[in-house]
This record gives sequence, C-alpha cells and structure tokens, in this order.
Amino acid sequence: MQKIKTIAFDADDTLWVNEPLFRINEEKFDSLLKEYVSHSDITEKLYQTELKNLKHFGYGIKGFVISMIETAIELTNGEIKGCDLKKIIDWGKKQIDHPVNLLDGVEEVLRILKNNYQLMVITKGDLFDQESKIARSGLADYFDIVEIVSEKEESVYSLIIEKHKLKVDEFLMVGNSLKSDILPLVNIGAFAVHIPFHTTWVHEKVESKDLIGKHYVELADIRELLTLLK
Ligand SMILES: [Mg+2]
Repeated sequence: MQKIKTIAFDADDTLWVNEPLFRINEEKFDSLLKEYVSHSDITEKLYQTELKNLKHFGYGIKGFVISMIETAIELTNGEIKGCDLKKIIDWGKKQIDHPVNLLDGVEEVLRILKNNYQLMVITKGDLFDQESKIARSGLADYFDIVEIVSEKEESVYSLIIEKHKLKVDEFLMVGNSLKSDILPLVNIGAFAVHIPFHTTWVHEKVESKDLIGKHYVELADIRELLTLLK
C-alpha cells in the first residue's frame, strides 16, 4: 500500500447513490405491468431484456428505459397504451435528473487523499449522464482524471493505466462491484479495495468460487481507506 500513487474511484454506489433509483423504477414498472398481465416474473423478464440489450445500448438509464418499453410491449402483446409508455419514459427522465446524493464520508476522504495522491474516477455508462452526475456532485475538482468507459474489464483498465503513464503496482481502485471494480484490477496486478453497497444489480454479482485466491481488501466504509493507507 505504501507504493500507491494513484487512487481511482468507481462512481455509482461508491461515491453516490445509484442502484436504489433503478430498484424504485423497477417496482413502478412491476405495478404498471400488473394492470395488464398476471406474470409474477415481470422484473426477471425486464432483467433478461436488459442483458440482451447491453450490446446495443450499453449500461445506463437510456438502455434501461428502452428495455422497460420493450418488455412492456412484449409482455402485453403490444396492448400497452401510449400513455403508459409515456409514463415509463418520464420515470427515466426523472431518474436522470435525480439529485446526486453523496455517500457518507466521501467528500471528507477525497479532500484528505487529494493532498497525497493523484485521484481518478473510472465509471461506466451513458457519457451524458455520468458527466452530468460528476458535475452536479460537486466533486469534480478533487479528480485529476475522469474516465467514462463502456465496459470495465482488464483490457480497459490496462489501457487507462498505460494512457496516463501510470504503473500498475502503484495503482489502487476503490469500488462497490467485485465484478467491475475489483477482479479486473487484481487480475492485472493492481491493488483493489472493495466497499460493498447494500444494493447490487444482479449482473454485477460474482460467485464466491471466482474470488478464491484473489487478494483485495474489503472495507465497510470509505473513511476506513484513510487508516488503510496510513
Ligand atoms: Mg459502482
């Protein structure tokens, strides 16, 4: 840990609240569709559509909205009313415009770390939405580098490290997703700190067998980073 020079943070559910906003809209979607069909697995159908659509639209709210519309059309055999589709679109707009709520301790930790480390954000999703959240979060000035990517995998991290002329063994990534923020970094020889968030999207979950032999640190709270790096 004494070698660390650059600390990169995931954004959604590491710096600010994100996933619960998707859960709220999934619940609204479930209630809306129950007015049309008796399925009990509406959320599962929506998830399958989202997965299928990742390769077309990538991660983020826009893809989520299109997936809700597609699922609604399919499950109702095209019977869904235009006014209900409009509701789905409005939920998405509201989600995009939702205030950015920072997680506890984030700003305090960034302010302290900024004195001794190069700080970075690495986040995936809609470019527009992520840029807007970084701007509205009030945290932009703490970061030397912001990278918005479409997938968080080993090759993407290696490219970022290379592009900014960093060394992999001086690089630490902090995030809430084992799949996106931890395993790819551990696999390329960087350091990783996992700070779990109470809500995780199914797609980001990792089976425990995939974690065997992987070395990373798990913290309950971002403030514990300060102690870890001392
Ligand atoms: Mg995250």
